[in-house]
Amino acid sequence: MIKRLRGMKDILPEEVLLWQYIEKAAKDLFALFGYGEIRTPILEEGSLFTKSIGESTDIVQKEMYAFKDKGGRHVSMRPEGTAPIVRAYIENNLDKAESLTKLYYIGPMFRSERPQAGRQRQFSQIGVEAIGSDSPYIDAEVIALIKLYLERIGLSGYTIKINTLGCSKDKTNIRKALQKFLKDKTNLLCKDCKARYKKNILRIFDCKEDGCKAVLRTAPKIIDNICSDCKDHFDNVKNALDALKVPYSVDPYIVRGLDYYTRTAFEVTHPNLGAQDAIGAGGRYDNLVRDTGGPKAGACGFALGQDRLILALGKEGSALPALGVYIAVLGEEARREGFRLCNELRSNGVSSQMDYQERSLKAQMRQANKKGSKYVAIIGEDELQKGIIVLRDMSNGTQKEIKKDSFVEEAKKALC
Ligand SMILES: [Zn+2]
Ligand SMILES: [Zn+2]
Repeated sequence: MIKRLRGMKDILPEEVLLWQYIEKAAKDLFALFGYGEIRTPILEEGSLFTKSIGESTDIVQKEMYAFKDKGGRHVSMRPEGTAPIVRAYIENNLDKAESLTKLYYIGPMFRSERPQAGRQRQFSQIGVEAIGSDSPYIDAEVIALIKLYLERIGLSGYTIKINTLGCSKDKTNIRKALQKFLKDKTNLLCKDCKARYKKNILRIFDCKEDGCKAVLRTAPKIIDNICSDCKDHFDNVKNALDALKVPYSVDPYIVRGLDYYTRTAFEVTHPNLGAQDAIGAGGRYDNLVRDTGGPKAGACGFALGQDRLILALGKEGSALPALGVYIAVLGEEARREGFRLCNELRSNGVSSQMDYQERSLKAQMRQANKKGSKYVAIIGEDELQKGIIVLRDMSNGTQKEIKKDSFVEEAKKALC
């Protein structure tokens, strides 16, 4: 038997209900904030990601599904949503239509990590990007949107941590300062951080190893080494968050695993997820649009892991939507009549099902119960002869006879 690939998952109808629920909540709320949905391709030219996310990042080095297609082109399955959206923003001249473009997306991303709970190789993200503004209010609005969204889907107990990474000039200065500080301490760092020291030094800040954390305790922090403009921006973001009563804490060790972030960076964690506790993250990326070949446009966004949101919610799929009318039939002629009625009910917006396996009336009633049917329509020889259908209310067992021709109308009335 052929099985699904490692790190890939089937989402069955009952669980899909939960997925649909959190997707609908996102669509409704994001619309209130003025975000429009964008759907970009899953496959993109490989260099889009290597350039934007950064050659030396884990995503590009180890995790991307990148390959040559039959035409010899280097392509990648998208590992994240921001770079493709920036590409689409530029390619479709969205900046010409509006100075501030607000886009959201829901869809699958691909990274070949070691699979574990909430970390599949195909995973889904719900994200927003606000492109075309340097205002700190945008950062605050994006973070406030996460809070409101988590409230809407009924998730509490989360933590929002924010930091600032400074502008690209600040980042260069901090890299230098950190290099100097760690120069004679590299032997105390873990193997990964030794490699990061050479290639991606800021990532050392978010290492989870105790040894590295201890070394970093006295290291120069990003937050203390940014320019006054970046400091003002960060203060304004914090003030705006306070004004909206968004709970957050400042964590100077958040750096994010993607090179394109500047200034505000944030993470949202939830204790239900264990060691890998992030349910989402984001930040400002003021140079990405220009570096991808577009105009100068400040931008900010977030992505929430849909699989992780569902894990954090810790709910089973909610009960299947109740069925309106189950049609129970006795005999071949009644089956023909029942089949016609079943489809007429559906045409009139009433959910309806029936048995196609010639089961006994008793078995059909059991089936109706199992499906959470509100009513059962019973058709047997007697009913056919009299031109009626029996409508049984499953909540209290009462039955009434209804003329065949007015059955659909009566059923609709009973169900509303
Ligand atoms: Zn700066
Ligand atoms: Zn380390």
